[in-house]
Order: sequence, then structure tokens, then C-alpha cells
Amino acid sequence: MLANARHAKEEIQAMTITTSGGDRQRRTVLRAMMVVTALGGLLFAVLNLYRGLWPAAVVEFAFVAYSLILLPIIGRTPRFRAWAVAYVIPWTGAMLSILAMPGASPSVFVWPILLPLVLHFLLGSRLGLAVSLASFAGAALLAWYRFGMPAESSSFTGAANFSLAGMLGLALAHVYERGRERSERRLREMAATDTLTGLPNRNLLEETFERLRAAASHDGRALSILLMDLDHFKDINDAHGHAAGDRALVAFAHRLRSELRDEDFLCRFGGEEFLALLPGTTKEVARQVAERLRLAWREQPARWCEEAADSPHTVSVGIATVGGDGADLDTLLRSADQRLYRAKAEGRDRIVSD
Ligand code: GH3
Ligand code: MG
Ligand code: MG
Repeated sequence: MLANARHAKEEIQAMTITTSGGDRQRRTVLRAMMVVTALGGLLFAVLNLYRGLWPAAVVEFAFVAYSLILLPIIGRTPRFRAWAVAYVIPWTGAMLSILAMPGASPSVFVWPILLPLVLHFLLGSRLGLAVSLASFAGAALLAWYRFGMPAESSSFTGAANFSLAGMLGLALAHVYERGRERSERRLREMAATDTLTGLPNRNLLEETFERLRAAASHDGRALSILLMDLDHFKDINDAHGHAAGDRALVAFAHRLRSELRDEDFLCRFGGEEFLALLPGTTKEVARQVAERLRLAWREQPARWCEEAADSPHTVSVGIATVGGDGADLDTLLRSADQRLYRAKAEGRDRIVSD
């Protein structure tokens, strides 16, 4: 595929990774796990205290408190993954410590079989796999420490069943989670991509603007917006058909992408309108950039339609700059749109920036 489209795809991937905030299901599961852990932990802590096993009771009370403190945080933190790790890894450690207790029934070794499911779901495929393997190794060592090597065939069969069931569960959880992560990535990419041109669509605009504006104000640099609308585009469709119009849009998108810098964000704003965010660009420089784009499009051979090659293809541009024209995206878009409208009214094929 063309370098432009590849660049746009990388841009979308880089940006969509930062937007993964949709962990609602995971939050619900982790909170349920915390409630169950807090209730179960309280019960076992009281029982252990009653039996005089106060070290175990202290650990359990501490875990009950930790669960209750984290419960409201998990519901709203934007850093869900980090908090999930901070909870689930000690939780796994606590489970292993129960396996180590001499009084614990051998049946508690059934619990590690469930771990890969929980760990993959809450920690993702990579960390989930690492912690699952580590906890399996821990559980195997603890089984060996408590019961010794299986000597007779019945205990050997038991150990083999536990191990095989655990490994099969681990493999399935891992393959399933990898597939789910791939599909999620793909869906995010699709939702943020314009299928015709391969550019990002306006779904990414707000978040990208916020990121670039924060960086610009941090570095004391300018940030400008170009709103571009192809002139008399309806005529291309009417004269040469919708497919020719589509090819013209693709050509325009590719031309813009190749004229702009990598750090400039370019998206299809809608229909035959495109928008660029130019970091580190003052209004004067944005005007020069827009002028270069306008001329580039005028001179572009109209390969999308041979009969149209001679007719002029032009674009009008409205410019707004952070600071002088406003600070938030809505105000800046309104300002750029009014200027674009003026460019149209004044005869098209021109740039209006004030
Ligand atoms: P102006 O110079 O005032 O901007 O005139 P215009 O004809 O470009 O503007 P108008 O808003 O009247 O028409 C825009 C046209 O763009 C109409 C619509 O059919 C066409 N268009 C929008 N999206 C697409 C698309 O994806 N493919 C094609 N082929 N045409 C599209
Ligand atoms: Mg338009
Ligand atoms: Mg137009």
C-alpha cells in the first residue's frame, strides 16, 4: 500500500492504544473478586483466629482491608491495569501461601487450575501468561514440598490430572485472550479509520487535539488548524460519476499526507472536507503551508478522471490558531469554518486566516 496510507495506519494504532479505557467488564469482575475475597477472607480470618492460627489471620485481615480500600478506586481509576496488577499479584501470592499451609486440605490445589482464566482476563495475555506460569511452578513446588514425589500410581495419576487440566486451561485462556486482544485492536482501528482514504476519521480529532494542545502549551509552541473543503466537488460527481469523485478524494488525501510532516495530524473531517492540526505552527506559517497545499492540488494531474484532467481542481481553506482564535476545539472549529465560508463567498481557491 502507499506510504501515506501506511503512515496513517501507524498514526491510528499509536493513538488508539492510548485510548483503551473500555475496561468496564474487567472492572466489574475485579470488584466482584474483591467483594468475594473480603467476605471469604473475613470468614477465614475469624476461623483461624479461633483456631489460634494468628499469623494466617493477620494476613487475611490485611487482605480484607486491602480489598475494601481498593474497591472504590478500581471503580473509577483511569489507570485500571496498574491497580489490577497491584491487587491480583499479591492475591495470587496469598492463594499460594494457603497451599503451603500444613493444615490445608489437598483439594485446595484445585484452585490454581482456575488462575490462568482470572489472570488472563484481568492482566491481559502477556502478563497473564507470565504470572500463570510462575504460579503453576509455585503450586508444583508446594505440592512436592507438602506431599513429596508421587510414589504410587494413584497419587501419580492425581498429580498428572491436576497438571494436565491446568496446562490445558492455561493454553485455552492464552489463545482466547490473544484472539480477543487482536479483535479489539482491529475494531478500534476500524472505528477510527475512514475506509475510503485510509486516513483517521474525526473520531480521533478531539483526543488528538487535546494531546497536541497540552504539548504545545507545555513547550510554549503554537498550534494551528487547517479546515479544507474541495471546491465545486458536487460537479465532479455530477459530471464524471461518484466513483470518479471517490478517486479524487483518495488522491487529495494522499497528496495532503505527502505534503504534510509526520507530526501533523490529518483526518477526513467529513464528505469532501479535511482537517489538519499543525503543531509548532504559527498563523503566518500555517498560511504558507495552506498555500503550498492549495497550489499542489491545483497542479495535481486529475488521474481520477481523464475527461476532467483539464478542468481546474481547487480547494478553499479556513485557518484558526490556538490562542488568538480561542483555546477549545469547538471555538477554533467555528472560527475556521467561518473563514472557510468566507473563502467560498470570496470566489473559492483561496485561504482565509483572519
Ligand atoms: P463548494 O465549492 O461550495 O464546497 O461546493 P461543493 O459542491 O464542493 O459542496 P457541496 O456541499 O454542495 O457538495 C459536496 C459534495 O461532496 C456532495 C457530496 O455528494 C459529495 N461527497 C461527499 N462525500 C463524498 C464521497 O465520499 N464520495 C463522493 N464521490 N462524493 C462525496
Ligand atoms: Mg463541504
Ligand atoms: Mg466543497
